[in-house]
Amino acid sequence: MTPSTTFAGRTVALFGLGGSGLATALSLKAGGATVVACDDSAEGMARAQAQGIATADLRDADWSSFAALILAPGVPLTHPAPHWTVGMAKAAGIEIVGDIELFCRERRKIAPGAPFVAITGTNGKSTTTALVAHVLAQAGFDVQMGGNIGTAILSLAPPAEDRVHVIEMSSFQIDLTPTLDQSIGLLLNITPDHLDRHGTMENYAAIKERLVAGAALAVVGIDDGPSRAIAGRHEGPLVRVHVGEPEPDFDGLSAHGAAVWRGDERIADLTGIGSLRGAHNGQNAAFATACAEALGIDAAGLQRGLSSFPGLPHRMEEVGRRGRVLFVNDSKATNADSADKALCAFHDVHWILGGKAKEGGIQPLAPLFGRIAHAYLIGAASDDFAKTLEGRVPYTRCETLDVATRAAAQAAAVSDASEPVVLLSPACASYDQFRSFEERGDRFRDLVRAIL
Ligand code: ADP
Repeated sequence: MTPSTTFAGRTVALFGLGGSGLATALSLKAGGATVVACDDSAEGMARAQAQGIATADLRDADWSSFAALILAPGVPLTHPAPHWTVGMAKAAGIEIVGDIELFCRERRKIAPGAPFVAITGTNGKSTTTALVAHVLAQAGFDVQMGGNIGTAILSLAPPAEDRVHVIEMSSFQIDLTPTLDQSIGLLLNITPDHLDRHGTMENYAAIKERLVAGAALAVVGIDDGPSRAIAGRHEGPLVRVHVGEPEPDFDGLSAHGAAVWRGDERIADLTGIGSLRGAHNGQNAAFATACAEALGIDAAGLQRGLSSFPGLPHRMEEVGRRGRVLFVNDSKATNADSADKALCAFHDVHWILGGKAKEGGIQPLAPLFGRIAHAYLIGAASDDFAKTLEGRVPYTRCETLDVATRAAAQAAAVSDASEPVVLLSPACASYDQFRSFEERGDRFRDLVRAIL
């Protein structure tokens, strides 16, 4: 744990007692603050009390006694409307910050030179964070990974000069970190998402920009308009990352043809790395390359790290092979955009899809239908998706994942393609049949393992 000493001897209000909220309360307490915590759920309040954290209904509290409001990132700061605690904190004239701000203050105090890599983007944050952490760990670094992925930042070991923190940040977390001063900032991409929570695309992009603005080294993707504009006006050391044909005069990194390039020189080879299939993972690997180089890792060390990356569960996860058939769990693909990335990576696809559809359904994927040998429909979206596929892709209505997985495995086994793929990439949320995309992916993995 990293004790947060910035409010030692003072009292703070804290709202939001999910995983990171509780970790923050414990860190503040360990650092000598008095914490008054609150949550909408009685369960959250009880969990905090069981850990020795004082709780109260903050509506009735005396806000003049608080030095700050510590907010969990899931609680609206601005959109669609500020949470009621935000209004009370503003009326009391106190600052509103999140757990990563507390970490930054602690780092400045105890180890200002400690490497701190912060990663954001609309897509690929978790994969890139895990990949960077893996490459650094393989090269012998003492790595602490967390933030928006896995462990809450204040539950990690404290910053130290010989320890690197690799931290995934959502835009909500950036918003709550006014003095973010990471040593390396990675901004992967910006496409419309979470606009309900950020109002406009301009506001969303402005928040993302802060992830690189304060960094000693910025690494920015230049394949979408907002990110390209950010790279264009960035002052200070910058590495630009581009997905596409390498160009001799380009001074950044390119991801192309299962390799990472500087100019027209190939500097990392991604051939045969199952966890890094597809152009989008090329982008993620190029960001990891920039970060590894900045921290002094040589070409051999980088290649070793990339080649041994196990990947994350539910994101293009290779579950196993039976004969020529490859089984891939991409349950995290909860919209057409993500499923697009998976379909692009394969040619003879037995595609399991469906669930609770997002707006637009699978119509945007029509250009990729030629890659699909057969589609297996599950869940609530079946009628809609059947209409889109009709006459273009052979499909079977399977209702459940169990039926779909068995049917797809049987058909793929008798396919004469060189590498038929049974791919769960549902292009839908899971909530009609599962509690989460993780539960859906776990179920698929179990079904496949029973077949193998
Ligand atoms: P995040 O943490 O930002 O949600 P993940 O690493 O969990 O991202 O990946 C989620 C999905 O987004 C993956 O299943 C994949 O389809 C897609 N994806 C991964 N990396 C990228 C990228 N660099 N650009 C676009 N899409 C990506």
